[in-house]
Amino acid sequence: MKLKNCKRCGKLFVYNGIDLCPDCIREDEEDFKKVKDFLYQYPKASVFEISEATGVAPEKILNFLKQGKLEISSDNTGITLTCERCGRPINSGRFCEECLKIIRNQFEGLSADEQNKYAEGKFHISDRIKKGLK
Ligand SMILES: [Zn+2]
Ligand SMILES: [Zn+2]
Repeated sequence: MKLKNCKRCGKLFVYNGIDLCPDCIREDEEDFKKVKDFLYQYPKASVFEISEATGVAPEKILNFLKQGKLEISSDNTGITLTCERCGRPINSGRFCEECLKIIRNQFEGLSADEQNKYAEGKFHISDRIKKGLK
């Protein structure tokens, strides 16, 4: 058993692979639910409007979107989420379809060892792209 301080509130908790204590995780889940429900009712709401209505910080809402947990409707002009690779507007996640295809192809070109590291989160394809490796 390993104790750790929560990255957000600093409280000591039993580490289970996540840097947040159970209270903060629960808070995130509740925030996520609020944002999701609001977006369901108001698909065209901007991040600012969602934040005002739900009390969830705009950065957190953007994070939910980047994690691919939330998707905005394509006619929502209030939220600008862009592909981290080419800058094209996207509805969810971090990359556009095109770039995902390229990244997937590059992933297939990885060695078994690199694929394992990637699955463990120790290896990032975006790092590889940044370094200009093929
Ligand atoms: Zn906490
Ligand atoms: Zn892209």
